[in-house]
Amino acid sequence: MYDYVIIGGGIHGTYVANCLLSDAGYSHSDIRIVEPRAELLDSFASKARRCGMESLRSPFVHHIDTEPFSLRSFVEGAERDGELVPTTSHPNRPTLDVFLDHARDTIERGHIERCHVRARANGITERHGALEVETGEGEFATRNVVLAIGPGGGRTRPEWTESLPDGAPVVHVWDDAFDSAETAVDGRTVVVGGGITAAQVCCRLAGSADVMLLSRHPLENTLTEADPRWMNWDHIEKEIHPLPAGSQARYNRIRAARNDATIPPYVGERLVAGRERGEIDVLIGEIACTSPTDDGLLVRLRDGTAMTVGQVVLATRFDPAPEHPLVSAVAQSLSLERGTNRFPVLDDHTLAWRRRDSTNSNVYISGALAEPTVGPFARNIIGARRAAERLLA
Ligand SMILES: Cc1cc2nc3c(=O)[nH]c(=O)nc-3n(C[C@H](O)[C@H](O)[C@H](O)COP(=O)(O)OP(=O)(O)OC[C@H]3O[C@@H](n4cnc5c(N)ncnc54)[C@H](O)[C@@H]3O)c2cc1C
Repeated sequence: MYDYVIIGGGIHGTYVANCLLSDAGYSHSDIRIVEPRAELLDSFASKARRCGMESLRSPFVHHIDTEPFSLRSFVEGAERDGELVPTTSHPNRPTLDVFLDHARDTIERGHIERCHVRARANGITERHGALEVETGEGEFATRNVVLAIGPGGGRTRPEWTESLPDGAPVVHVWDDAFDSAETAVDGRTVVVGGGITAAQVCCRLAGSADVMLLSRHPLENTLTEADPRWMNWDHIEKEIHPLPAGSQARYNRIRAARNDATIPPYVGERLVAGRERGEIDVLIGEIACTSPTDDGLLVRLRDGTAMTVGQVVLATRFDPAPEHPLVSAVAQSLSLERGTNRFPVLDDHTLAWRRRDSTNSNVYISGALAEPTVGPFARNIIGARRAAERLLA
């Protein structure tokens, strides 16, 4: 029997595994990471590359190693100091390349891949006091499970996409079919969205494609996803834990704290430069409906105007994390409690998912699903650190 089976080998799952191995005295044979992709962190790396992200939004002390200055030592050792990008009113941020190289180095040094089982988890059951994680590659009996499955299972698509025939030139930025480095489209590319992802895709396409950013709200610049005080556990405890677990009040407090659909100033500056060079158009508006034409797509906006475009790229958000199909399956089979907007109800001290009888299960949560307890940075790299501290405590 394993001590921990971690479901999801992304930023959160890999970080938790690293902490268990480095700081909590577990060995590789005690832990399994169930992850369907060929490599740990592949989900984050492929999304970041696909949207043309050049540097992280978070500072150089946020990464998957356990020692905060590990990435800086890595950069100095490799003489890659230029890859820590100076940022006004903020610590330096790593380029995507140096962040990923450091992450791979951390995985190699800790032999974390030895824990990786290439499989998808389909459910968790309880048998003779132990948990069994069901996967396509068999069952894994374990004392504890860490659910680190990232954002929800799907991508949010606007209603107007529902009536489009297969093959219509509409792609989501997280679809495997999309790569912002590929620009072979006749006609204009309209990128739908008003946040960092949409802005990065436009900047990446600018110069090699005719690009328009279509946002339904005016563009807003903010440096971080929330006020940095929310990275601090004392602040989280003071601000959200007094509100009832699973309540709408907690959810609202966290939503109000997140700067969703905003653009950090250094990406905003690239967008402005692209506009000034005449390479990017920005339009505030919303698509009402579309229909395929011989040249691409006829797009009608809610204000009555219309345009013909070569393709539409949706840079809209993921489905909410609680809609991931595994969440419902696990909640049902283990009788676990869900609160407002279907989020798991957690013990605020341990991040254990509570049973419906209010006792703690041995299923723990890290990532976006832990937002009602870990706060507005739950999904971020710093959220993984806060979650692992709770799990290990
Ligand atoms: C483009 C982009 C840039 C970002 N930049 C930053 C940044 O600069 N700083 C920051 O702090 N945050 C950033 N974030 C936010 C956050 O850090 C990332 O989303 C991060 O990847 C979240 O980690 P995760 O482990 O929760 O999810 P993921 O990295 O997506 O990992 C989840 C894993 O779970 C696996 N999984 C899902 N279902 C199952 C199943 N049933 N069985 C087994 N495995 C399963 C998936 O295959 C995936 O590998 C960014 C996010 C994106 C999308």
